[in-house]
Amino acid sequence: MLDTIQYKSPKPKVIAGAKEDWELVIGLEIHAQVQSNAKLFSGASTKFGNEPNSNVAFVDAAMPGMLPVINEYCIEQAVRTGLGLKAEINLFSAFDRKNYFYPDLPQGYQISQLYHPIVGNGEVLVDMEPGVARNVRIERIHLEQDAGKSIHDMDPTMSFVDLNRTGVALMEIVSFPDIRGPEEAAAYVLKLRQILRYLGTCDGNMQNGSMRADVNVSVCRPGQYEKFQATGDFGHLGTRCELKNMNSTRFIQMAIDVEARRQIAIIEDGGEIKQETRLYDADKNETRSMRSKEEAHDYRYFPDPDLLPLEIEQAWVDDIAASLPELPDEKKARFVTEFGLSEYDANVLTADTANAAYFERVAEGTDGKLAANWVINELFGRLKKDDKDIVDSPVSAEQLGGVVKLIKSGDISGKIAKDLFEIVYTEGGDPATIVEDRGMKQVTDMGAIEAAVDDVIAANPAQVEKAKQNPKLVGFFVGQVMKASGGKANPAAVNELVVKKLGL
Ligand code: ADP
Ligand code: MG
Repeated sequence: MLDTIQYKSPKPKVIAGAKEDWELVIGLEIHAQVQSNAKLFSGASTKFGNEPNSNVAFVDAAMPGMLPVINEYCIEQAVRTGLGLKAEINLFSAFDRKNYFYPDLPQGYQISQLYHPIVGNGEVLVDMEPGVARNVRIERIHLEQDAGKSIHDMDPTMSFVDLNRTGVALMEIVSFPDIRGPEEAAAYVLKLRQILRYLGTCDGNMQNGSMRADVNVSVCRPGQYEKFQATGDFGHLGTRCELKNMNSTRFIQMAIDVEARRQIAIIEDGGEIKQETRLYDADKNETRSMRSKEEAHDYRYFPDPDLLPLEIEQAWVDDIAASLPELPDEKKARFVTEFGLSEYDANVLTADTANAAYFERVAEGTDGKLAANWVINELFGRLKKDDKDIVDSPVSAEQLGGVVKLIKSGDISGKIAKDLFEIVYTEGGDPATIVEDRGMKQVTDMGAIEAAVDDVIAANPAQVEKAKQNPKLVGFFVGQVMKASGGKANPAAVNELVVKKLGL
């Protein structure tokens, strides 16, 4: 059985400069909030939208003498994420203090993992179109605390601070600079989000800030990236700028494009790129300098003396590995082989686990391809019209499976099936019973079909003459017979009979 799909790499995005062509090089640092009821080092709730400053333990507020206590579940979630990204799990890791002042950071430092992250090298396959995908290498994942939120727009004279988010566990997922264009960057974020959601380690809600990206962008001349890849030497690449805190894939794409053009203009003018942190302004579609790039030594990192190094056991990691769910790439490959789906359809159906599970129940015991068509075209289309989610579908998977089985067995035609689907969608009920009760069965009685064909031929002598010159006109007769039968005649049988009767 085929368990992976073979892909070729997409071409890098080339931006034509004034003098020569430039290629993009992009690396992402994604902050993903760990799905956990409690914070990384305290028992305070992580619930979004609670009353400001109600999810705050003494240690989150940095009361003197309070000590952090590690939340084992957050560690498990980070390990699960690492395994889902096919990454090395480091049995030894440690927490460091990253010192800086910010009003919403009461400790005066953030607890993070600089020197010994919990997860090492991994990879994410980013599908771009059927048969084409980029393999983006993951450099590391480390755990760290989130900061609180300063609020400046509630009062004209005062600022407020909400510490509910302070101390919530974040995974910082750092990629290698393997992303080669704005579309790939957006697709990478979405693929990562899909994997995290499958794993249940991050809800991926970008609007609530559960997933934010720092986007590093540089440009280089064709051929330079290949040298970097062959040697691992970052010196072959251009100087990068980091676009901070982006939480929309659309803005990520726009920001990368405008930032790359800014860099190219400077270099072609004989200038140099300064490594710095920039902000994207979506209203003006431009990036602006925020601060020059800080280095690790600016933060005076040191091992947090309140926390022992973290040592985990291989057997525990193995247990977590054994409990991993089937992940998107594997599910997709299985749908292609098991149900004979196109890669495109398999992609749509595995977008999330609810869709995939629904489809599998529809396809149970019947034609997978037909089931996929009905789920994607009819059901998804209908749900979209009503702005409904699959979990709120008025048609259950068993009901839709019933419709598909009736088509497959030849009991109803495709056209009648659409009417039946609409009845089940609006009124509910068992499809087979509805077909029986309302006389919707396809007519396969050849005698009845033959009579209908004879009638149509007798009523249209002029068309008969034309059809003898041009056999394509057979469709006219088939259409008339189908109409006369209220869509219940078997179209294949009608077609065959018409051809025979007209002597074509
Ligand atoms: P920092 O903490 O200084 O931001 P990290 O190592 O955490 O450094 O992250 C650096 C990010 O920048 C990584 O995602 C890396 O792939 C990316 N990166 C490094 N060099 C380049 C480059 N020349 N062009 C684009 N991205 C780069
Ligand atoms: Mg960083």
